[in-house]
Amino acid sequence: MEKKSKPPFYVTTPIYYVNDVPHIGHAYTTIIADALARFMKMDGREVFFLTGTDEHGQKVEKAAAEHGVDPRTWADRVVVRFFDLWKALDCEPDFFIRTTMELHEKGVQKMFRLLLDKGDIYKGEYKGWYCVSDENFLTDDVPASADGTKTCPDCGRKAQVVSEETYFFRLSAFQQRLLDHYRDHPRFVRPQSRMNEVASFVRGGLKDLSITRTTVKWGVPVPGDPAHTIYVWYDALHNYVTGIGYDRDPALFEKFWPATVHLIGKDILRFHAVFWPAFLLAAGLPLPECVFGHGWWLKDEAKMSKSKGNVLDPYVLLRAMGPDPLRYFLLREVPIGLDGNFSHEGFIHRVNSDLANDLGNLVSRALTMVRNYFQGTIPPPAPEEPDDAEIRKTFGEMKDRAVAHYESYALNKALEEIWSFITAVNKYLADKAPWKLAKDPALRPRLARVLHQAVAAIRGTAALIAPVMPGSAQKMWEFTGEPGRVRDVRFDTLRFEDLPAGRPMKEPEQLFPRVNLKEFLAEDAGTAKEKTMNEIPSPPERPAAPAVSEAPLITYDEFAKLDLRVAHVLEAVKVEGAKKLLKLKIDLGTEQRQIVAGVAESYAPEQLVGKKFIIIANLQPAVIRGVESQGMLLAAAAGGKAMIPFFEPDVPAGTKVK
Ligand SMILES: [Zn+2]
Repeated sequence: MEKKSKPPFYVTTPIYYVNDVPHIGHAYTTIIADALARFMKMDGREVFFLTGTDEHGQKVEKAAAEHGVDPRTWADRVVVRFFDLWKALDCEPDFFIRTTMELHEKGVQKMFRLLLDKGDIYKGEYKGWYCVSDENFLTDDVPASADGTKTCPDCGRKAQVVSEETYFFRLSAFQQRLLDHYRDHPRFVRPQSRMNEVASFVRGGLKDLSITRTTVKWGVPVPGDPAHTIYVWYDALHNYVTGIGYDRDPALFEKFWPATVHLIGKDILRFHAVFWPAFLLAAGLPLPECVFGHGWWLKDEAKMSKSKGNVLDPYVLLRAMGPDPLRYFLLREVPIGLDGNFSHEGFIHRVNSDLANDLGNLVSRALTMVRNYFQGTIPPPAPEEPDDAEIRKTFGEMKDRAVAHYESYALNKALEEIWSFITAVNKYLADKAPWKLAKDPALRPRLARVLHQAVAAIRGTAALIAPVMPGSAQKMWEFTGEPGRVRDVRFDTLRFEDLPAGRPMKEPEQLFPRVNLKEFLAEDAGTAKEKTMNEIPSPPERPAAPAVSEAPLITYDEFAKLDLRVAHVLEAVKVEGAKKLLKLKIDLGTEQRQIVAGVAESYAPEQLVGKKFIIIANLQPAVIRGVESQGMLLAAAAGGKAMIPFFEPDVPAGTKVK
């Protein structure tokens, strides 16, 4: 029988509001998406994983004004917090979309015009209760308070009555088609309880949606009517198609659209399960297979919020132990449809018991014995006894169940299966007691078989945990002497018995150190004070752009807009209170300027005086830490260090670079 190839897998996260300081909630959604994407690749599917930032709207406009910069500059400056976090969490999206990208804005306008031509978008007058903070009109079911005013149910702020000319989307016309779709695709919204919630909302009747504003400028203009700006949430939803080549790359779009799963927080379910599918139906595009609303993380049983001051900073955990323990905890602790509770006690307990004890000890014990008894090469598998066969069979069955759980997004169950296998292997080792076998030379074949089994179990486990703990899995893979990347393994060909004897193993290192709760909490309190996440990085040294391969192509004309010049440094001093920043006085031949550069950790001020490098001379001035910067120097950023390419001294200051 011919093997049917599996369909491509396209997973998205919501795009995050660029103004937000990334917290554990952002981390959670992105980790789920990343783990699913990694699994699906190892499951032999073509995969596209999209995440990004929502950069339009009043709040960005406001924050930029408060900082004395234009919204674009502001967005460029703060978006790096998300780039940095994904890197720190080992999340590898295939594309990071920013709604300020031209490819996005063009796609949104294209679809807007299409719906306008079809009559599904029309112009009218809207009057309603409006929440300025959320940039959203309240729905009619929000009750008025005693004084006749309304309060926003999302943020608790007072709403105001707003009336304006606006474009509407004819949502009312889509009620029956949406209900039909839900009926024919009962797993369109998951978990099931949310599907019921959505269907009953739609059955209650749908009103047309106001989708443009005239009072907000920072957004996508309505094509042909630029006095109107498209609502930030309307524009944002389109990222799921613009990010995959809509109206730009037909081959890519054809391959991956419709999305396999839109992962979202349950608070934005209506946007994704009602509005977005209606827009797609109007545009004649197929609907996503599934909208999955995951739960929220509570901190010590309370919802995290800025006002409570209990927002969890993922960097505190990442600094202490790297990404894998956090990824494991978040995905293991609860099914992704339910709320989870984060407590430091619970987290440390999992790290110590599941990772340090169960997995870490298995790996270090087995590898140490192979080193001591077989000079670090994998021993040959002497004849199999019933208990050995049992472990081999258990692995095969566990693999099938774990893969099935991963496939249905039950990541916690996949991990449970894998851990019950780890427990079985630990028990097998305890029963066989290889350290006793080693004392009797006659039992050496038996010793070889037992340790061979243990290493085979570690190798298989490494592959199965790779979607969730990519870094640790790769290390375990290499311990067993495997030369390649564990992520290149395909689950359908992964077999327990495919471990070659005689292959040299790598010297093991500790995978998961045990964590002392008391010490950890003390350190946590200390590092939390640094407030790393809340610091706005200074722009010069951090590239506010996607990775090279992901950056959209630009034309020569766009490049030629940059006025690159040779600058000669006249003076350099540190910026008070900012350990990364230097204030430089530079000569451009015809004028002198001041720039602020985030290179203080790599260069002492005196090292730069007299040096020549490239600056962008026509960048809008920005105020960084209260100091005006009239240009930006170019430097390579590697591991937090800046490296400036210098010119030979005889190039005149002000020379154009092209
Ligand atoms: Zn509100």
